[in-house]
Amino acid sequence: MVSRVIPVDPFDLVIFGGTGDLARRKILPGIYRRFWSGQVTGDARIIGASRKEMSDEDYRAFVRGAIAEFAIEGGEDGDKVEEFLELLHYVAIDATGEGGWKDLRRHLRGHVVRAFNFSVGPSLFGDLAEQLHRNKIAGKHSRIVVEKPFGHDLESAVELNRTLRKYFREDQIYRIDHYLGKETVQNLMAVRFGNILFEPLWNAQFVDHVQITVAETVGVTGRGAYYDKSGAMRDMVQNHMMQLLCLIAMEPPHTFEPDAVRDEKLKVIRALDPVDPGDIVRGQYGAEEGIASYVEDAEDEASLTECFIAMKLHISNWRWKGTPFYLRTGKRLKARASEIAVVFKDPPHSIFGPQEDRRGNVLVIRLQPNEGMKLRVTIKEPGPGGMRLIEVPLDMSFADALGAEAQAVPDAYERLIMDVIRGNQTLFMRGDEVEAAWAWTDPIIAGWTDRGDRPKVYAPGSAGPEEALMLLYREGRRWRDIKE
Ligand code: NAP
Repeated sequence: MVSRVIPVDPFDLVIFGGTGDLARRKILPGIYRRFWSGQVTGDARIIGASRKEMSDEDYRAFVRGAIAEFAIEGGEDGDKVEEFLELLHYVAIDATGEGGWKDLRRHLRGHVVRAFNFSVGPSLFGDLAEQLHRNKIAGKHSRIVVEKPFGHDLESAVELNRTLRKYFREDQIYRIDHYLGKETVQNLMAVRFGNILFEPLWNAQFVDHVQITVAETVGVTGRGAYYDKSGAMRDMVQNHMMQLLCLIAMEPPHTFEPDAVRDEKLKVIRALDPVDPGDIVRGQYGAEEGIASYVEDAEDEASLTECFIAMKLHISNWRWKGTPFYLRTGKRLKARASEIAVVFKDPPHSIFGPQEDRRGNVLVIRLQPNEGMKLRVTIKEPGPGGMRLIEVPLDMSFADALGAEAQAVPDAYERLIMDVIRGNQTLFMRGDEVEAAWAWTDPIIAGWTDRGDRPKVYAPGSAGPEEALMLLYREGRRWRDIKE
């Protein structure tokens, strides 16, 4: 199978924060990979910008290093790398100052797509938007790309939206949630809306419950004080997990146009019930030999911020009334694994008699590692032992099914940057979606503060606090094992 790579139009992309961690690890190696694949052509121009004084040559050396370290594929192709580096320029600019803007304007061309990636701290988003406008660098066809976090609560998100919209229309603003750029996440939509098989079963009548897990093995060592200001609810649930929930739960949009999809996602967020405090478990990892505890990492023994959260949600609409959605995410858990599991109900009557350990049909959408999908189905256990049933997976691992093609699947950032150039906002969050997600999140966080809620301590390398297991167990359900 050979994929068709359709080159994007010529573009000028300015990366503010072009010397930062995100640019070095994701954005620049990602654009290089798209160049290597032929999607970005020699007509592109990429301009790094940050406060540090650097020549174009210095910047190219920086990007050469980033490609060697992070490009995964194509990075060893020396000629191609040098060809790519020719597209790069650098301008020293302080987002809050006056110098450098004229220089930047000189680098930009007319009649090509013009995009500005705000890969800087969120406190600078407003300054950048204003400067681009004031210095007449951004026009009515320019696009801005905004990294997470988008606000800290509803009030700050509304304020940020208001600031950006002073200078840019909503269709010029690309709010990145890199989970939406993942191949499997998009495949989730393809599976749901491209097949007749699943959609008739995709409702409370047939789905017992849904589990969404984003488990990490790493802690917050080295960035604990920063992380402690947000916590798992703000860092993971409000954005990434909410987006996954929306894609699972939304109604079929009437087309795959950006606003049609985003309208449906918004309806899901608005239909979320307030969460009962008894349906949420928060946690912090404890210490173990050689491993600092969360509060030590956070440099605050009295920290009440969670780095683990498990919760049960309900969506109040016809499709989902009565089907719980369980979300779980945390640091220093037993394995690095992100997946969505749609657990279907048992058949209404078993003609094979009682089957004690049967667990029914489950569709597992695996985000990382090993992106792919598995459908667990019941078959007869082979052999002469009578009609004993077992579950086996119908495995749709992308790596196996697509071979070399799967290796060429762009990483989330690559895809999203190409979507910016193509002007496709389907996989970006709209302002009202972000605000609705904060409007749902804020009262939950405020409740913890009011009640002085204390996160439960859990052992590093475990599946989280015991109470999180009980969240399902008390209802006769079980979390899926967290494994790679
Ligand atoms: P970082 O490593 O601290 O880089 C920040 C960049 O911004 C540097 O290039 C810095 O260069 C530049 N900068 C800082 N102040 C500036 C100013 N006043 N004017 C112009 N440039 C300025 O941060 P990062 O990790 O790359 O994160 C960037 C953004 O992406 C943040 O909003 C972060 O939350 C978000 N994000 C990061 C990741 C990640 O994996 N790193 C993932 C998701 C989202 P100078 O100091 O030379 O100016």
